[in-house]
Amino acid sequence: MRRTDSIEETRGVVRYWREHGHSVGLVPTMGFLHEGHVSLIRRARVDNEKVAVSIFVNPIQFGPGEDYESYPRDLERDLSVLSEENVDLVFIPSPEQMYSKEHFVYVDVESLGDVLCGAQRPGHFRGVCTVVAKLFNIFRPDRAYFGQKDAQQLTIIMQMARDLNFGVEIVRCPIVREPDGLALSSRNAYLSEKERKAALVIPRSLSLARNALENGERDAGRIRIIIAGEIEKEPLACIGYVEVVDASSLRPVERIDRPVLAAVAVKIGPARLIDNFMYPEDS
Ligand code: AMP
Repeated sequence: MRRTDSIEETRGVVRYWREHGHSVGLVPTMGFLHEGHVSLIRRARVDNEKVAVSIFVNPIQFGPGEDYESYPRDLERDLSVLSEENVDLVFIPSPEQMYSKEHFVYVDVESLGDVLCGAQRPGHFRGVCTVVAKLFNIFRPDRAYFGQKDAQQLTIIMQMARDLNFGVEIVRCPIVREPDGLALSSRNAYLSEKERKAALVIPRSLSLARNALENGERDAGRIRIIIAGEIEKEPLACIGYVEVVDASSLRPVERIDRPVLAAVAVKIGPARLIDNFMYPEDS
């Protein structure tokens, strides 16, 4: 596995692949890799001749008081996961490599960015889109892989790829969960044993909502109440948001008469966790 930390060297490796006619799949991550990331890498491996992974905890997507400094990092472990997955290239830039002192241009997100996580983390998606745009320009991949776990991020990246004509196919990958239902997340590392148990209220609340939908409930307000009511039973959980939104526009709906995304953000101890499901599932 080739490891790079400079943009120029990375471009050189990818240029060489291209000259040899290889297709390139990119999996952007912030490291502290888990089976969710691995699922993206395996999908990229199926679709492409060369697979590149980036590991970069992107400072500009964290707001003041968020967990940029304490975000979990374990480079040695990440490298061994990636070499076991036969990744061809891992790009691990420094913040200075990605953002010079004279960095003045950012990617702004309009309507999709001001709801759900965007409403609670101002500037978050501007930071995400800016770094993903930079990675797309550095790698010029054929395809890039993102998890449905971060549903709003995925929707915004798809929109960005379209609006800014990146010519990159964005591949949506399903949420990978622990056997007990908790969605895998690097931030699960923040949870104590007690908080880890309390966090199960998140998938439990979502499956209650999914059952109600499958039994014919079409009132989005009722679905929100089912989810919030279950989460509120857990004393260690504090709701950030519980929303049922149109799966494409991410605007709140009243009646569930089109594909929707039910999405939550919940603070459990020090961890802000997000989870969601689409209904119908394959929408
Ligand atoms: P992160 O390192 O948290 O920025 O995540 C990198 C990529 O992995 C993003 O596209 C995430 O949506 C995706 N991802 C994170 N957790 C999961 C999961 N549990 N299942 C599927 N994809 C995930």
